Amino acid sequence: MARAFAKISFTPNVQAVQTEMGSRMAYQAAELGVAEEVALGAAEQAFIAEHDSFYQATVSQTGWPYVQHRGGPVGFLKVLDDRTIGYADFSGNRQYISVGNLRGDDRVSLLLMDYPQRRRLKIWGRARAVDERTEPALLAKLESPDFRAPVERGIVIRVEAFDWNCPKYITPRYSQREVEALLVQARQQQPAAVARQAPGVLGSGALPLTITGIRQLTPRIRAYELRHADGELLPAYRAGAHLRVPIALPDGSVTFRAYSLTDVADNPSQYHIAVLRVDDGEGGSQALHDGWQLGTRFNVDAPDNYFSLHDNGRPALLIAGGIGITPIKAMAEELTTRGVDFQLHYAGRAPEQMAFVEDLRQHFPNQCRFYFSQAPTPARLDVSVLLNSVSADTVIYVCGPVRLIDAVRQTARRLGIADERLQSESFA
Ligand SMILES: Cc1cc2nc3c(=O)[nH]c(=O)nc-3n(C[C@H](O)[C@H](O)[C@H](O)COP(=O)(O)OP(=O)(O)OC[C@H]3O[C@@H](n4cnc5c(N)ncnc54)[C@H](O)[C@@H]3O)c2cc1C
Repeated sequence: MARAFAKISFTPNVQAVQTEMGSRMAYQAAELGVAEEVALGAAEQAFIAEHDSFYQATVSQTGWPYVQHRGGPVGFLKVLDDRTIGYADFSGNRQYISVGNLRGDDRVSLLLMDYPQRRRLKIWGRARAVDERTEPALLAKLESPDFRAPVERGIVIRVEAFDWNCPKYITPRYSQREVEALLVQARQQQPAAVARQAPGVLGSGALPLTITGIRQLTPRIRAYELRHADGELLPAYRAGAHLRVPIALPDGSVTFRAYSLTDVADNPSQYHIAVLRVDDGEGGSQALHDGWQLGTRFNVDAPDNYFSLHDNGRPALLIAGGIGITPIKAMAEELTTRGVDFQLHYAGRAPEQMAFVEDLRQHFPNQCRFYFSQAPTPARLDVSVLLNSVSADTVIYVCGPVRLIDAVRQTARRLGIADERLQSESFA
């Protein structure tokens, strides 16, 4: 296969760069290799069958490449024979860019990623659309019987080359399905009751948790997904609640820090928290960032709440500064579920340093306003204007830096807003 791949990819410009960078000699051998039958071997076929997604590039009429993510049930990209693969094209956003591109140029390039094992397979081929009316038997071979998404057409790809790539720079990542399989394995290897008493598991709370997901939200904020270590549902909670988690410090001692739950669910199977790395603190958040890995176990008490929402239908004004967005985001979700009017005002330095900006924009486009103090045109949250603009029955919630909370409290006092209308939570 090396020769087919090299023939397609090592164009004169690519060869020139290889020469400049000193790798030409090594790669020339691939081009000169024996011409071989382009056939997917057992390894490629098994790899393709395990996948539930891949990236596909097509060539548009303007000459621009167009890369699209394709997802479906495991094995939805099917090997029809050792030169042919195909998939059912599910109904999507109806832009039809990839399928439109194929009318002008049938060349596609696929990238299949295996993040946990740090492997990737590239496939080049020529694709065509399959219409159910003219080729029903072929389309039937591409469908996955248990997957209910409407199929618009099939895509069949004649493979012209493939290549396995080096694992460098692939960060291991795990899908929910992969994490669940690992959890089952871990439980079988180590009965939960024994694990809970193991000296390495921190905390004495009744709720055993395992870290099942980690996401870098900004350069300094990480989100953690936590599940019951035995796969059970977790205790319910209301927006504004937090967990008190044990953290091992580098000197071997254990400290505890509180982290707000960032979303709400009736019967939660996961908790989510987001943690800012504080460099000038006593090291709790740093030790957490450095020490918490997928699979890390600890025991906590059920969530506690000193910052809960009012129960009636009065409107709410939510104000967040920086990492103070964590309980405020959960509040926005709970108010939406309850059908209560709210506005959310979120201030920080710049969007790339603030958690959940895109999520909030998407989910609450009409309720959210953002203030970026370090944007090219900085926007300041004017607390006085804001508090003056809300109706007399609005309940105000603020979470963020002490100076923001103080500013809101002082302004509220000056405007004669009753104390019961203002709730705050400080992380300091
Ligand atoms: C109810 C509650 C909910 C919380 N929820 C979250 C949350 O969702 N996400 C989160 O990242 N933190 C949250 N915190 C703060 C968290 O508990 C820790 O205080 C924080 O991670 C810093 O810990 P540390 O050991 O690194 O520093 P600490 O020694 O705890 O703090 C050192 C110094 O940093 C200040 N400080 C603490 N937190 C912050 C901060 N976020 N930004 C700037 N300065 C700070 C403290 O006032 C102190 O002066 C919450 C705190 C409380 C009480």
